[in-house]
Amino acid sequence: MRVPIIAGNWKMNHTVETGTALARAVSDNAPRSGVEVVVAPSLVSLASVVDVLVAGPVHVAAQNMHWADNGAYTGDVSAEMLLDVGCRYVILGHSERRQIFLESDELINRKIISALAAGLKPIVCIGESLEEREAAHTRLKVIFQLRAALTGVLREDMANVVIAYEPIWAIGTGKTASPEQAQEVHALIREQLGELYSAEVAQATRLLYGGSVKPSNIDELIAQPDIDGALVGGASLTADSFLALTRAAVA
Ligand code: PEP
Repeated sequence: MRVPIIAGNWKMNHTVETGTALARAVSDNAPRSGVEVVVAPSLVSLASVVDVLVAGPVHVAAQNMHWADNGAYTGDVSAEMLLDVGCRYVILGHSERRQIFLESDELINRKIISALAAGLKPIVCIGESLEEREAAHTRLKVIFQLRAALTGVLREDMANVVIAYEPIWAIGTGKTASPEQAQEVHALIREQLGELYSAEVAQATRLLYGGSVKPSNIDELIAQPDIDGALVGGASLTADSFLALTRAAVA
């Protein structure tokens, strides 16, 4: 039985003041069981948000990290620093990091290995562009990114890995993959995990969908057999819409 996850990626939004207020509202009203709720504030708000959430049911994720333990990497943070501040998860391989910051599959893989070694749970994002979907390359792209991301990841570490399928054409565009389109790719990812690891790992790994998820479309997405929750951008920025998603994931 996979406990669903609703994870909110705040991206470069919210100050410490508005972010802690949002975190408090989420923490006070999120379901106490049946769903794992995660928020990913900006780096500068992490410590304050952790303080607000410390006694409640909501976990904190970072939006990115460096692969090295420490060193001369101006502007970056390590897995250990994120753990130290109270993060449990880290989002890695988000399409915005891949496209805008030119993060490669190899670099993302190094970050995943580093996060797991430190005890931080990576939420690994993969997904095709519109051109790739239109060229019928979705399966190829997803398989390639998944295998590249998990290179060297041991079977025993897979309990700490979450995969988020995020078709790039559905992120922040208002276009959602249909439940059938999303389910097809999620089933493919689970099948691949079975080939790479084992049937048990495939059945136990949580697979999130991301791409314009909102209260009006969560029900049909979460009803799909291989969709175990959502990674949410825009709809995570206000308490009402995010809480509605957390409740829908329990129902
Ligand atoms: C995201 O950035 O991970 C995302 C899914 O954003 P949105 O929900 O706004 O499409």
